[in-house]
Amino acid sequence: SPVIEVSRTRAVAAEPIRVERPKMVEVDAIHKRFGEFEVLKGVSLTAHEGSVVSLIGASGSGKSTLLRCINMLEIPNQGTVTVDGESIRLATNRIGEPVVADQKQLTRIRSRLGMVFQSFNLWPHRTVLENLIEAPIQVLRESRAEALERAEALLERVGLAAKRHEYPSFLSGGQQQRVAIARALAVDPKVMLFDEPTSALDPELVGEVLRVIRSLAEEGRTMILVTHEMAFARDVSSHVAFLHQGRIEEEGPPQELFQRPQSERCKQFVNAHQ
Ligand code: ADP
Ligand code: MG
Repeated sequence: SPVIEVSRTRAVAAEPIRVERPKMVEVDAIHKRFGEFEVLKGVSLTAHEGSVVSLIGASGSGKSTLLRCINMLEIPNQGTVTVDGESIRLATNRIGEPVVADQKQLTRIRSRLGMVFQSFNLWPHRTVLENLIEAPIQVLRESRAEALERAEALLERVGLAAKRHEYPSFLSGGQQQRVAIARALAVDPKVMLFDEPTSALDPELVGEVLRVIRSLAEEGRTMILVTHEMAFARDVSSHVAFLHQGRIEEEGPPQELFQRPQSERCKQFVNAHQ
């Protein structure tokens, strides 16, 4: 009867509706070997749109390799990386090494990923502005005027508009890293990858860089972040993964992983670093 129909509809509507956000990065069972040494032993990881995923773990556990496999700076021997719904096609060459099957596809996918390294990696013979407009002009085929306009806005955002005509060596480490972040943002990537962005900085310069990263998290930019800054990871992350010897040993929401680590190793690591 109609009455029953109505109550059934209500019952359904009262259920909490869990809308899962789309997966921006999906790493599925990747293995990476350097010679005989297997650095990643079947790692799977997902970053949903708007989430911040932090990778923590001891030095040598495979954090950088995992991050570098996402944009194919290292090519996994096995497994799949999917960015924004598109799986990167891989093949094997004649001597059995993994290679990217379709360079055009990789270029397209890389333009959706911005990467920031520990060591800034700015082009030393180009000014700050020139560093920022290179990729938009070369990769996105923007006009110089368009690229400059956006570069100026990004410099404003990271607090470095006044440095637009400086060369990188005239900037502090913290300023250089903020330029590197602005440069990565210049192609408007869907995902930002950070590999220990503050580890090379003097302690008094760490805060200014973390503030910029935090502001990106707050505006909902999808990020995967390798960091030793545990307090920061706890604050900004939606998900934390603890790597140990090439495997994700434990993962979960930051409150759980930092307050109630399950495995003995994760417990030890977390206690030693906060
Ligand atoms: P993490 O970033 O967690 O410190 P890495 O991913 O840099 O760890 O390294 C994991 C392991 O892989 C380390 O033992 C490191 O020496 C090794 N490794 C990393 N890159 C290479 C490479 N290009 N060739 C050989 N071994 C490598
Ligand atoms: Mg590393």
